Amino acid sequence: MKYYSLNKNSPIVDFKDAVIKGQAPDKGLYYPEHIPKIDPGFIKNIEAFSNAEIAYRVIQPYIGNNIPDAELQKICGETVNFDIPLVPINETISSLELFHGPTLAFKDVGARFMSRCLGYFSKERSEKVIVLVATSGDTGSAVAHGFYNVEGVEVVILYPSGKVSAVQEKQLTTPGKNIHTLEVKGNFDDCQRMVKQAFADVELNNKIFLTSANSINVARWLPQQFYYFFAWKQWVDKDNPPVVSVPCGNLGNICAGILANRSGLPVSHFIAACNANDTVPRYFDSGKYQPEKAVQTISNAMDVSDPSNFVRMRELFRNSEEEMKKMISTCSLDDDSTRAKLKMVNERFGYLCDPHGAVAYDALEKYLNEHPGSKGYFLETAHPVKFFDVVEPVIGISIPIPPSVHSQMQKEKLSTLIETNDNALKKFLLGL
Ligand SMILES: *Cc1c(COP(=O)(O)O)cnc(C)c1O
Repeated sequence: MKYYSLNKNSPIVDFKDAVIKGQAPDKGLYYPEHIPKIDPGFIKNIEAFSNAEIAYRVIQPYIGNNIPDAELQKICGETVNFDIPLVPINETISSLELFHGPTLAFKDVGARFMSRCLGYFSKERSEKVIVLVATSGDTGSAVAHGFYNVEGVEVVILYPSGKVSAVQEKQLTTPGKNIHTLEVKGNFDDCQRMVKQAFADVELNNKIFLTSANSINVARWLPQQFYYFFAWKQWVDKDNPPVVSVPCGNLGNICAGILANRSGLPVSHFIAACNANDTVPRYFDSGKYQPEKAVQTISNAMDVSDPSNFVRMRELFRNSEEEMKKMISTCSLDDDSTRAKLKMVNERFGYLCDPHGAVAYDALEKYLNEHPGSKGYFLETAHPVKFFDVVEPVIGISIPIPPSVHSQMQKEKLSTLIETNDNALKKFLLGL
């Protein structure tokens, strides 16, 4: 498989180069030259396959001979070695629980896959690789965990000071060793901008080898297709494919779902569920893409106003707004309504969502009400305990903290406070 830059002004590369570079030299996101067709027999008999086999079959065409089969099978097995259950909540709505990985959020899958690929590729290199990543919370935790102690790789994580949850901050800042955390005096968009600027800095890139672990990296983006196949494996009514509601931030997750659908996975409709950061819903209404300043919400991993994967979404529909609207609906929910929904689902169905899941639940419920006869699932992207500071006051009882989180909460925070200017980051990177 070859990958081209969506800015169309860089040479095409194979998987390995796309992973190592992260972003194309023209600052475009890499995109596969064609979308492989999944064998219909496999889709039909998916229940006969283990999750590791499904993962391998889905990802292999995207990697070709860049990673030997035995190694890739091992990577796939390690990437998905935790449960991803589809849990029915009522007659029409199920929850695809993506939070059973080590950092309790769905980003574990992409981060585990990418760290192992990069670890494999960096064995052949003498130069140290520096992974640079901006996080609104969960990316950083998953990347910190996935890359911890990977030889030849240093990780630098930027997060907005005071804007991540207590559990997220501990997960980010306590590993130490090859994981370096920068607490930025700004918001997530500032962090993202600083990272972009560092990648664009020719002088800096001549001195050190930088790559990205944000969902712009194909090794983080592509394995997210797995979830949707695992859901299909558990979907009972195979004659009536699911409506899928995805809580959206940078749109990496939903774009992976659409890619899976393009390669042959049955899905009847997608919903891009957003919080008050509603650039995408406004685009669907007006046809104009106009990011505004990101606002802080209780579903902080979605506090993105200029989603980096929007260009991939357009490409998936060959830039046809009409095609996009046929397959995707959008929805925006404010914090008060998110809290109310979380409370309702808990009281009525005995199911506890996290704030991100609650946004997606609400969007799905609205859509199903308007489309009687359809059924669907939403992606429950984080464990509610990660947001206990938000969730507990809403439901009025405390959530039991898993032992792994409890021991993490006792550890000391190791982070460096920095200003939102590009020089501060550059200086830090050169000092590594
Ligand atoms: C990252 C994240 C999202 C948003 O996913 P994108 O791929 O950026 O759209 C949603 N929920 C949680 C819990 C997340 O960590």
